[in-house]
Amino acid sequence: MDFDVIVIGSGPGGYVAAIRAAQLGFKTAIVERELLGGICLNWGCIPTKALLKSGELYEQLGHLESYGLSVTGRSYDFDKVVQRSRGVAKTLNGGVAFLMKKNKIEVIEGTAKLEKSSPAPKVVIALKAGGSRTVQAKNVIVATGARARAIPSIGLEPDGDKVWTYREALVPKSAPESLIVIGSGAIGIEFASFFRALGSDVTVIEALDRILPVEDEEVSKAAHKSFEKRGLKFRVAASVKKLTKDKSGVTIELESGGKTESLKADVAIVAVGIVGNVENLGLEALGVKIEKTHIVTDDNGATGVAGLYAIGDVAGPPWLAHKASHEGIHCVEHIAGLKPTNLHSPVPGCTYSTPQIASVGLTEAQAKAKGLDVKVGRYPFKNHGKNIASGETDGFVKTVFDAKTGALLGAHMIGAEVTEMIQGFTIAMTMEATEAELMATCFPHPTMSEAMHESTLDAYGRAIHI
Ligand code: NAD
Repeated sequence: MDFDVIVIGSGPGGYVAAIRAAQLGFKTAIVERELLGGICLNWGCIPTKALLKSGELYEQLGHLESYGLSVTGRSYDFDKVVQRSRGVAKTLNGGVAFLMKKNKIEVIEGTAKLEKSSPAPKVVIALKAGGSRTVQAKNVIVATGARARAIPSIGLEPDGDKVWTYREALVPKSAPESLIVIGSGAIGIEFASFFRALGSDVTVIEALDRILPVEDEEVSKAAHKSFEKRGLKFRVAASVKKLTKDKSGVTIELESGGKTESLKADVAIVAVGIVGNVENLGLEALGVKIEKTHIVTDDNGATGVAGLYAIGDVAGPPWLAHKASHEGIHCVEHIAGLKPTNLHSPVPGCTYSTPQIASVGLTEAQAKAKGLDVKVGRYPFKNHGKNIASGETDGFVKTVFDAKTGALLGAHMIGAEVTEMIQGFTIAMTMEATEAELMATCFPHPTMSEAMHESTLDAYGRAIHI
């Protein structure tokens, strides 16, 4: 055996799994065909947050009067905004290289393919430097991630020029004057928020009847209203029939409520979901089960093929970096025979738009659909001292409790800094907290987090500041 564990793919699923494997004393290697850190660090979560920060600051500079401040000559240098984002990605990419070295994990640069073998499939790597290398381990973890879904039949296919996915949208030459975003999930909404902040005329098209359809309905509604106030335009319950392009830009034919409409813009961003990177890995020949472009696994990441595991985006939803890391650690600890339990934690979701959106657990509708009797609390930031002082009064916290047991079933937030606060509710749910523990918790004053307390109190008719 060359290694105890070989991980294929070095995104937040793969590199975290590799580090945990090394910590547990496994001789570990990681294979990467592109950049250490995967999409998250290089083309996703991190560089988008850098862009969004620039956009947010620029937008805030336009609203300084209410704080008693003024600025003249507000402007931006788009190239520098993009360069900052690329620099941030590069720093973190270097950070992962450092962590691999520190943990004595061998990094093999190349493209891996699996071949039948025992006790686990063999890994044949077409090396970036040329030639190939075959390595054998006791356990192989596939963490190859996912990529943007394209729909070529109706023209929703990136061309790097007028039709972008998140990749092209991270490094354009300039902010488009007009932009159509197809899909109102996290990717679509974050880019819509960023380009709007820089002044682009942005229209978001969503096939379902509300934006951010995975969120609680009240959050979707409030987000729609807030984004419209910022000048974003929406077409919901609108299906794209065809995207065509010419020299001047794109034209999108859409159908909504029996009516057809044609929209034009300089550029379109396609953000209609993702597909798993399952191709050319030799999975079919091994008999690995693939459903809807994702590898089917059990709770420990096992694929059913001896010694072969899959984690993260390639193993199915939710397609989130932190879920991938969590699964990676769980999978390695299972391999080590530790009987991990960390998959019992619910997976929070965050969208880093202005305003921010964050949630964990069941929406009110999902809880009711499960036949649960619920108690719901709400607390608006417009009532709240810290938010009023900060000029951040948009949004609210909503909590959903099981009326019978008091268990916190879900929490849904929209407003400033909510992506930093959702973890409080996630810890509560992981510890199976009820309303009693949340009510008994002392929240620091003045913080936006007090709204979490008030929302809990409101569910039981005890809110103080409503
Ligand atoms: P998504 O599945 O979250 O959203 C895609 C949206 O597009 C859906 O609302 C869908 O109804 C809509 N849609 C699909 N086909 C359409 C069509 N033809 N016309 C109009 N609308 C259409 O996908 P995404 O936003 O591309 O993101 C992919 C994954 O990455 C998601 O799971 C997302 O949660 C994750 N992600 C998370 C973050 C974050 O946590 N901040 C950031 C980026 C991506």
